Amino acid sequence: MTRLTILEYPDPRLRRMAVPVARVEDHHRRLIDDMFETMYDAPGVGLAAPQVDAPIRLLVVDVSDNNNDPLVLINPNILTRSVPGTMREGCLSVPGFFEDVDRSHEIKVSALDRLGKPFEMQAEGLLAVCIQHEMDHLDGKLFVDYLTELKRSRIRKKLEKEQRQRATPKPSRSPAL
Ligand code: ZN
Repeated sequence: MTRLTILEYPDPRLRRMAVPVARVEDHHRRLIDDMFETMYDAPGVGLAAPQVDAPIRLLVVDVSDNNNDPLVLINPNILTRSVPGTMREGCLSVPGFFEDVDRSHEIKVSALDRLGKPFEMQAEGLLAVCIQHEMDHLDGKLFVDYLTELKRSRIRKKLEKEQRQRATPKPSRSPAL
C-alpha cells in the first residue's frame, strides 16, 4: 500500500466535479486501500478520492475509535435527511482549522461497496456528518464554503503562506567565521 499526497486548500484540483465510477475494478480497490492507509496515517476519519487527486465519486470513512470500522461508499447518493444539527468540523485538506457547520444528523444513503454491490444504510451523528462532508468533496465543495467570506479568506491566506514556506528551500547556512 502507498501513502498518498493529500491536496490542500486552495488547490484548484479540489474544486473539480468528480465523475461516477462506471464499474468498480481492481485499480479502484487499490486506490481504496491506499486511501485508508493515508487517512489512518493522517490521522482523519474520512477521505474523498478528489483529495488525493482522483476525481471520481468514491470516499472512505472510519469514525471508530480503533480504526476497525472501515466504510467505502462509491457513487453515494443521499436518499433522506433529517435532524438538523451543528458539529465542529475539520478537513485533511484544510489542516489546522476547525469550525462549526450545520448539517443533517440523520441520513439514509445508497452507494456501491468495494465489490460494486449496491447497498443502503442509515447513518447518524458523526458518521452522518462525515459522509456529507466527504460527499461535498465529490462536488468540489469544502467545509470552508459554509463559513463567512472573511473567515474563509483568512484561512486561505494562512494556508498559502504555509505552503509557500514549505516550497522554499531553506538557505544553506553560511559558515560561522
Ligand atoms: Zn474534507
